[in-house]
Parts: sequence; structure tokens; C-alpha cells
Amino acid sequence: MSRILVIGGGAIGLLTARELATAGAQVTLIERGETGRESSWAGGGILSPLYPWRYAESLTALASWSQARYTDLCQELQTASGVDPECLSSGLLILDPEERTAALSWAKAHQLRMEPIEPADLAKLEPALGHTADGALWLPEIGQVRNPRFARALRRAVEGRIEVREHEEASELLVTAGRIQGVRTRQGILEADQVVVCAGAWTATLLEQLGEAPAVEPVRGQMMVFLTQPGQIHRIVLYRDRYIIPRRDGHILIGSTLEYTGFDKSTTAEAKEQLYRAAGALFPLLRHSPLEHHWAGLRPGSPQGIPYIGVHPQVEGLYFNAGHFRNGVVTGPASARLVADLMLNRPPILDPTPYALHAQR
Ligand SMILES: Cc1cc2nc3c(=O)[nH]c(=O)nc-3n(C[C@H](O)[C@H](O)[C@H](O)COP(=O)(O)OP(=O)(O)OC[C@H]3O[C@@H](n4cnc5c(N)ncnc54)[C@H](O)[C@@H]3O)c2cc1C
Repeated sequence: MSRILVIGGGAIGLLTARELATAGAQVTLIERGETGRESSWAGGGILSPLYPWRYAESLTALASWSQARYTDLCQELQTASGVDPECLSSGLLILDPEERTAALSWAKAHQLRMEPIEPADLAKLEPALGHTADGALWLPEIGQVRNPRFARALRRAVEGRIEVREHEEASELLVTAGRIQGVRTRQGILEADQVVVCAGAWTATLLEQLGEAPAVEPVRGQMMVFLTQPGQIHRIVLYRDRYIIPRRDGHILIGSTLEYTGFDKSTTAEAKEQLYRAAGALFPLLRHSPLEHHWAGLRPGSPQGIPYIGVHPQVEGLYFNAGHFRNGVVTGPASARLVADLMLNRPPILDPTPYALHAQR
């Protein structure tokens, strides 16, 4: 039985470890902090790319595969972990109608339900909406998960099936004669037959020591959450790259910024002001709702938003699954399955070519 080491315990590392363990591999996951506390904690959990028609087919393929399986995945995780990831099919209402024709034909080609909404009907759909739009697009099938709970469910679901080592950081990838041997950590050397790097925004930092690394860089995203009475806002609403996500218990998220500020995870007064204004313009009730929290996370940014999934071209046994940028939750299940297929020599669920190391240059 091959010994596999997964580096990074975000959603991508946990999903990958789960896939590998399900196939019978002996898996160890190392996480330098605690699992599910970085980007996978900070995100919104929308189970669709924003404006999905703007993305490359390779990204859509990962998203569609995952979307078709999310309800079952959440059910399995809840049964295995006792934690409800709050997978809700709240639907997505897009208030920028400018690309309506292109969006509708894209949806038809991808068999995704998308309905044009006339301005007069908007208030019937979302009575609390304060924004008057020239029309909207309604995607009733789009869902969401609640990130911290999703990550906790994943973590608990793999406990006992894999070894999880927290507070252990891979500082060096050990390679001999073009083959991975394991990694060095402050606690010692961990040997493995195969290693898969799922280190999110820190992936390039780790792989750069080998000369060739995926072009993954941190992209900060700030979000805020308000507390309201449940049942006042029903749908995920998107307008000019800002979105509102209603959780089941009345928490309402507003996101998010897109900032290239290195590994700095601090929040800013400027973003707070912008998000607050955007939230109040979309739903005036949020101006009178308590603001509970404001935070930032580091997305693993990639040049075209397409994750790197595959084998290192120079190092046998070394794989990566990283760079999911704005869509790691929605694409994660397919991405984990694909990398596991490649590592285990199974027929892949998708053609891996677009996710290779040099495909995005
Ligand atoms: C504000 C915001 C909103 C978002 N909204 C959405 C959304 O609505 N839908 C969606 O699909 N996606 C969304 N995303 C994107 C999504 O959250 C990410 O793509 C996804 O979480 C990436 O998962 P990951 O496991 O690769 O990274 P992370 O969750 O960052 O995990 C990487 C892990 O690797 C660990 N690590 C790093 N280096 C090492 C090392 N050397 N040794 C050991 N461990 C290491 C880190 O500590 C970390 O825990 C959002 C992101 C942000 C920030």
C-alpha cells in the first residue's frame, strides 16, 4: 500500500485526503496551523463561480462535476461527522443584466437553469431588496455551504481514516534522483511514496525550491457578516462583484474585496466602508442590523483562476492541487477526485491537460 502525504489542511487538502483514503491509500495530512482555518474558513461558500459564463471551459467542467454531487457530499459528511455543513439551495440572483444574452446562451449550452427576471418581478422574489435593476438573472439551482462548518465536517469525517498532524509545517520537499522521498518538518522527516501539495496561497513558496512552481499568489478577500432576523433575505444576490449570502440562522454575509497585498491578512477601514455601503444599497435593512465581524482571507490566486492539478514535470511522485482562486469550494470535489485519479493511475474524470503546470502561461 502506498504511503501518501498531503500538505495543507484546507478544503482542498481535506477533500484530496478523503478521496485517497476512500481508495484505500495510507494517508497522512500535515497542516502548519489548524485545519480549515485559512481561505477555506474565510470564504463565502457559494457553489458557483460568480458570473459563471465568464470562465474557461476547464473551470466550468470542475464546477459542474462538483455541483452535481454537492448535496450527496454534504449528506455523507454530515452522517460521518455529525456536523451540518449547511448546504442550502438558496439560488443566485444576478442584478447586472448587461450580459444577459451571452449568459442565457451559456446556461442553455451547459444545461444550467437560468431565468431572466423583469424589473417588476424582482420585488416579488426578494421583497427586502432596495436596489432597482433593469432586470436580473435567476439561477435557482445554485447552492451554498457554510465554510467553517464545511471544513469542520470534512475534518471530522476523515478522522480515524487518515493521520492528521496539525502544527507541523513542510519546510522542504526531499527529492533524490528525480523522485520524491518525503518532506522535512521541524519535527523531523516524513517519508512518503507520493506527496501532494495542497498548500493554498503558500503553494509556490514551498515548490519554488525545486525550480518550477505553479504561479499561485495570495489575493486578499475581505468580508463582513451582519446579524438579522432569519427569513428576511432568501437568495444569494450578486451585483457589481459584491454579493450577499443569507445563512439559515439570519447571518448575512457581504463580500468581498480582491486585493494583491501579499501575505497580509489584515482588514482595512476602507474595505469596511465599501462593503457596508454596498450591503446597505442592496438591502437597506442591513443599515440597521448589527455588524458582527469583519475578516480577511488569502485566496490562492492563479493567472486565469484555473487550478493546477497534476504531477510535477521533473519530480516523480510529486503532485499539486492548488490555485483554486475564487472557486475552491465549488470546484474542490472534482479537483480532489481528479488528482486522486492521477495519483492512483485510474481513468481520470476529466481531461487533466488544462490544469497542468504550464497550461496557464
Ligand atoms: C473572501 C473569500 C471569499 C470566497 N468565496 C468563495 C465562494 O463563495 N465559493 C468558492 O468556491 N470559493 C470561494 N473562495 C475561495 C476558496 O475559499 C478557496 O479557493 C479555497 O478555500 C482554497 O482552499 P485551499 O485548501 O487550497 O486553501 P486554504 O484553505 O488556504 O488551505 C491551505 C492550507 O495549507 C496550509 N499550509 C500552507 N503551507 C503549508 C506547509 N508548508 N506545510 C503545512 N501546511 C501548509 C495552510 O496553513 C492552510 O491551512 C473565497 C475565498 C475568500 C478569501
